[in-house]
Amino acid sequence: MLLDKDKLLKTFIELVKIDSESKNEIQVAEYIKKRLKKLNIPFVIDNSKNKTGSNHGNIIAKLNNNRSLPTILLSSHMDTVVPGNNIKPIVRNKTVVSSGDTILGADDKSGLAIILETLETLKTNKVNHYNIEAAITTCEEIGLLGAKYLDYKLLKAKEGIVLDSTSPERLVFKGPASDYFSIKIYGVESHSGINPELGISSIIASAEIITKMKTGRINKGTTINIGKIHGGSAINIVPGETVISCEIRSHSESTIEKEINKIKKIIKNVEEKYKKLNNKVRIKFTKERIYDSISIPKNAFIIRKILKVCKSSNYLINLVETGGGADANFFVKNGIETINLGTGMRDFHTKKETLILKEFYQSADIVLKTLIHES
Ligand SMILES: [Zn+2]
Repeated sequence: MLLDKDKLLKTFIELVKIDSESKNEIQVAEYIKKRLKKLNIPFVIDNSKNKTGSNHGNIIAKLNNNRSLPTILLSSHMDTVVPGNNIKPIVRNKTVVSSGDTILGADDKSGLAIILETLETLKTNKVNHYNIEAAITTCEEIGLLGAKYLDYKLLKAKEGIVLDSTSPERLVFKGPASDYFSIKIYGVESHSGINPELGISSIIASAEIITKMKTGRINKGTTINIGKIHGGSAINIVPGETVISCEIRSHSESTIEKEINKIKKIIKNVEEKYKKLNNKVRIKFTKERIYDSISIPKNAFIIRKILKVCKSSNYLINLVETGGGADANFFVKNGIETINLGTGMRDFHTKKETLILKEFYQSADIVLKTLIHES
């Protein structure tokens, strides 16, 4: 049994034409619900929108088959990054691209199309398949919020596939934890022309911290980024406050601790230097967890099944580590061993975003075959 490729492409094209920048997923949610209703596949909407700020909740659909078989979770997200409105997809050279004014939205409408078509194929062909739960989330692009606030009581699956990555030859089984941290420097404001002597520049103090911090790739599994600096209020005022916003990602909790301690030491040294100068610089450090790391055992059922499918279909596939985060991080946190399979998308989050059709069809074929139970 095979997926209808033309229909899969048609669904993808329909999906990307629907505006759904983060927090505005309502129209694409209506499209999905309409498709599910037509197939008689039951679904519920959770209450996550109160916490995500979206105009719609996550959609959780269930296609049960046989009580004695395990349940597999499928997931992709409804929202896109900006500029994601009024997308005009163009099919060209066995790929799909946007007109160049917007992103394409293959991230993650390619995953959504695969889920919808897989459910339809299984439902209409009456094959023996695993029980399926589809968790279609909102607000992934603004901090995995849909998955973070999903009502996990509604899910039974212990294993899952997120469709939100590049090539279907990549099966992501390991990803880093991510922490946000900020360093807020309080100097002293003064008039820069009349009495600069009374001021202490928070921008200059922050520079002393930044230039001592190690950033970029720290080691194979760890990165640090200084993403934003906000400071000062006018060119004639010695700046009183500066905030440095940063991120650390690592596969290792002990490395996060070690690197954060190094940064705290740098802050302390700068603070002490200013103390000796009899100045009043204060520095406040805060850190918060964005998501935990994931590491799915290589012998997990879902990994074994996908590798087996790929072997018998002659598809190349590799277990890979990622430096990114996805809804899978929250599914894993909630007890669902979830891997991330690529769908054929490239250059996502840019106007050059492309969907490679051969890979898109291959990803869909892997998903469909993984869900079929050979008795
Ligand atoms: Zn995505």
